[in-house]
Amino acid sequence: MHDRAKEASTKRFRSTMPKIQRLSPSLVNQIAAGEVIERPASVVKELIENAVDAGAERIDVAVEGGGSDLIRVVDNGRGIEPGELELAVASHATSKIASADDLFRVATMGFRGEALASIASVSRLVIRSRTARSELGARIEVVGGKASEVSPCGGPVGTTVEVRNLFFNTPVRRKFLRSVQTELGHVSEAFSRIALALPRVHFSLRHNERQVFDLPGPQGWLERIADVAGRPLADSLIWVESVDGDVCLSGYVAHPGQSRSHNRMQYLFLNGRHIRDRSLQHALSEAYRGLLMTGRYPIAFLALAMPPEMVDVNVHPTKLEVRFRDAGRLYSQLLSTLRKQFLSTDLTTRVESPDDEDPTQAHDPHQAASFRQQVVDWAKGEVESWGARPAAGTVDSPSAPSGSLELTRLDGRWAPAAGSDPDEPPGGAAGGDASSAPRRGPARAMQVHNRYIVAESDDGVMLIDQHALHERILYEQLRARVLAGVVESQSLLVPEPVDLSPAEAAAALEHRELLGRLGVKIEPFGGDTVLVAGYPAMLANLDPADVLHGVLEQLLSGGKLPDRRDLLDDLLHTVACKAAVKAGDRLTPEEVGALLEQRHLIDDPHHCPHGRPAALIFSREELDKRFRRV
Ligand code: ADP
Ligand code: MG
Repeated sequence: MHDRAKEASTKRFRSTMPKIQRLSPSLVNQIAAGEVIERPASVVKELIENAVDAGAERIDVAVEGGGSDLIRVVDNGRGIEPGELELAVASHATSKIASADDLFRVATMGFRGEALASIASVSRLVIRSRTARSELGARIEVVGGKASEVSPCGGPVGTTVEVRNLFFNTPVRRKFLRSVQTELGHVSEAFSRIALALPRVHFSLRHNERQVFDLPGPQGWLERIADVAGRPLADSLIWVESVDGDVCLSGYVAHPGQSRSHNRMQYLFLNGRHIRDRSLQHALSEAYRGLLMTGRYPIAFLALAMPPEMVDVNVHPTKLEVRFRDAGRLYSQLLSTLRKQFLSTDLTTRVESPDDEDPTQAHDPHQAASFRQQVVDWAKGEVESWGARPAAGTVDSPSAPSGSLELTRLDGRWAPAAGSDPDEPPGGAAGGDASSAPRRGPARAMQVHNRYIVAESDDGVMLIDQHALHERILYEQLRARVLAGVVESQSLLVPEPVDLSPAEAAAALEHRELLGRLGVKIEPFGGDTVLVAGYPAMLANLDPADVLHGVLEQLLSGGKLPDRRDLLDDLLHTVACKAAVKAGDRLTPEEVGALLEQRHLIDDPHHCPHGRPAALIFSREELDKRFRRV
């Protein structure tokens, strides 16, 4: 009995004991493909890089179904000899390096000899190619890693690679693919990165017969940037360059008036290859320190040229990251180049953001005078509260000042909220006795520097950031309406077309329903244009294009699979931020009062949605201490 049990367990052990086996070459390639080929965009990247390495002057990319149905890359490079076609799709076969030493002076985009084999193992791949030396070209087809015979075919000098049904034999991978629009977004990003690095090459990208990009080549770098990233951005760029030893840094950085809420517009190119480098991105942020608000990222297109042996490009499967021999020196070079440039550039004159206006330099001399008068009056003790000064003619409507703030400012004024209490005193501030705390009624308050509100709080003094508070209020109101499903969307008589980047267009269409809940109704319009057909009534006086761009930027900067609730929340923040009064906006006393009515909102999280403090509170105790009263 005992023996038999032992025997059974040994048997079981034997039957589950794994055996070491050599993997079949096709499985090896599939595993390798797992690293390099994550999605259609990875195929596009590898194929374009091969075309560039082949010296092509023109590269045309066509994709269907976001790239999972078809990817075709046609180049006019030097082509592949018929006798080498089979090798081209074999793994670890490359014409670009021959020895280990070569690894440290790679001057081509590829060198691992893995891409075509990897792609071929997870798709149906066809290559047609001809070199100038042979009259006739040749064709090879590989299906799921199994290659056909090489057969002759006609065609111009150059190479055409077609990849169909990506991941057809790896269903799990296929399941990970996202919507057509999202995949197309990734494809255009991969395409743009290479196209941005190589303005000498003519590039085009089509999706389902629709032209996404047609970038003539050769063209100037700035022209290429304008064609890819848009003219307004290109117009705001500042040229920078420096040489340190063998390292040449050159390129464009954006004026601080142009920034993003994500760092994806920081393009770094090393010897013509797009790379990502945390340390250099950090140097970039350092250079902009103090020029951008927290949470904003600079935009840059920077090219580094250095001898190939100064960098190891063989540290990352897709070669996105590299290792510099002297990373520290590079960091300093980038930082000091930008700093020097910023010191010699007049950055202030071109800043368009109202956030950066000098509030004391009011444009309207009349306003400036009245501001000074307020200070004088206050100093003379003539008014108890600056905020309480009823401005003649502006408070004749009983409902005007005291109700909760409406979401819109019509013609730059607050729209009076309906249903406010007419018994409340006008002006939003009634002086009153400080000792009557606690209270939530009118507070004694004033606006300073057109951006802060100084208010008496229950037990001290509050300094409130007017933008942060208003943003918070709008956010709460908007959220309540969205959750209740009552965002009034107003149909536009003439739907407004808005031009977007390919990635933005993809995101807009993918999240159509979500945008609809915010009251933004959009329709596809062909190309990267969408039609805004309906718009939240409460945002009526904001430019739909502006709001849409802001919301999409938020969508695109989200993680891979943002939780829908978080996403909605982010969008609400974005809309609230756009709609809120800005620093630099002069507020009427009524507006100050109305804002303060909702100030309980900042007691709670103390922060505006972006994480900046909305209010600083000095308790009376602390003030007493500081003034050495106690
Ligand atoms: P790698 O680019 O790392 O060498 P690939 O698998 O991408 O590896 O390509 C294998 C080889 O096939 C290349 O080294 C090159 O000789 C050849 N090849 C691939 N694509 C092209 C192309 N578009 N034009 C000319 N030759 C090509
Ligand atoms: Mg390659």
